[in-house]
Amino acid sequence: MTQKGMQKSYMCKDIRESCGLFGIFGVSDVAPLIYQGLFALQHRGQEGAGIVVSNGKKIRSAKGLGLVNDVFSKKSFDSLKGHIGIGHVRYSTTGTTRIQNVQPLVAECADGIWAIAHNGNIVNAKSLRRMYQESGSIFQTSSDSEVLVHILADPMYRRRPRRVERALEEMRGAFSFLLMTRDSMMAARDPFGFRPLSIGKYEDSYVIASETCAMAQIGATFIREIDPGELVTVNSSGLHSSTFSEKKDHFAQCIFEHIYFAHPDSNLFGRNVHSVRYQYGRQLAMEYPVDADIIIAIPDSGNSAALGFSQCSEIPLDFGFIRNHYVGRTFIMPEAQERRHWVDMKLAVLPEVVKGKRVVAIDDSIVRGNTSANRIKYLRKAGAKEVHVRISCPPIKYPCYYGIDFPTKKELIATQKTTEEIRDMLGADSLGFISLEGLLTPFENQKDFCTACFTGNYPVEIKSAQGKRTLERYST
Ligand code: SF4
Repeated sequence: MTQKGMQKSYMCKDIRESCGLFGIFGVSDVAPLIYQGLFALQHRGQEGAGIVVSNGKKIRSAKGLGLVNDVFSKKSFDSLKGHIGIGHVRYSTTGTTRIQNVQPLVAECADGIWAIAHNGNIVNAKSLRRMYQESGSIFQTSSDSEVLVHILADPMYRRRPRRVERALEEMRGAFSFLLMTRDSMMAARDPFGFRPLSIGKYEDSYVIASETCAMAQIGATFIREIDPGELVTVNSSGLHSSTFSEKKDHFAQCIFEHIYFAHPDSNLFGRNVHSVRYQYGRQLAMEYPVDADIIIAIPDSGNSAALGFSQCSEIPLDFGFIRNHYVGRTFIMPEAQERRHWVDMKLAVLPEVVKGKRVVAIDDSIVRGNTSANRIKYLRKAGAKEVHVRISCPPIKYPCYYGIDFPTKKELIATQKTTEEIRDMLGADSLGFISLEGLLTPFENQKDFCTACFTGNYPVEIKSAQGKRTLERYST
């Protein structure tokens, strides 16, 4: 089955995104640069991509289902001429794909056109949506991101100073936003800073990206991360910063970005992703030492931790698995059945490396367990004498409501079983998960991270956010 064929099969369900954003202001032809930026962010979403540009007068857009390479062609760039632009790669964390949900969303309001691209999950989107629907608004998508369009278009907000800040104040949960009008680009990060968003410089223009790897892709230079609760506006008079939230005692940056989601060459939340994962490997070697002949990584997100484990334990690192790079990341395939199908095609074992050996396999996480069980089975079939598994995150026991796809408790193996039971189910000789303390060791500001999927301590309360919050216009 082709990837395009797969996408058709999971259309038309409710959508929440965890995605990639890229925007640039001030280059004569922005679309090819946005394309390159989105290409570098492809790992953050493979179900759809879109680019919206403005030449100061007209706004034009192109979007479609599939990979960045599939969606855009030379023809798309011919029609996407402008000096301001934002782009988005999309990943639906709870459901399926339809073209209406592919971002950036574009809406014509009474005072002009807005384009909006979002990474995260707005936990009070349902209640906001219901309120607007009850007052007559018609929603075009099933995406949580669309509520921001309706608040911005709301006459109560349109007439007020600091309208965008006031609109952002209504959002609860995880959001990094890129917004665009005919003559400006804006970027905002939620007050807890769940999802990354950074500013860079490309020649004389400003670039905003979810990850710094996308800036490096076009030769832009990183300036700084956007602060939690900050709105950055870029227009013809330069870059301006404002805040839309009181500073929190601590933030809740998603630690899973460092464990799995982000690219190793990105710097986010103050640290380089590869070096954090490397440190996790060293930590695992100290927490769960083992007598073994070789260390192997589960590519690609286990690579850096495997190197750290190997260097700390002085057990040689080798290539036990070879990855097929033409198959998408299994974790971000929404349907479980499709996920299982692709798991089998993704990695090939090298029997010459593992045969007769005591192998330590380093992986980034165990979510449902089916992927890990298959891999251990392949290692044994290839002749591995012992298989020891080390995981560079603690057991995932709770769902994520902030934009990463751990949909239900029922599907999380660590909610259902103890570590020993998981080891038994996987068929491993030993199993070790990094401790929560070990996970936070690489960071000075340890309180500034969300660890809710391991602890159940949710930084933004889900029930009250969905049920009690009312818009300013309804409460005054
Ligand atoms: Fe990230 Fe886990 Fe928090 Fe979700 S619950 S934001 S995956 S750390």
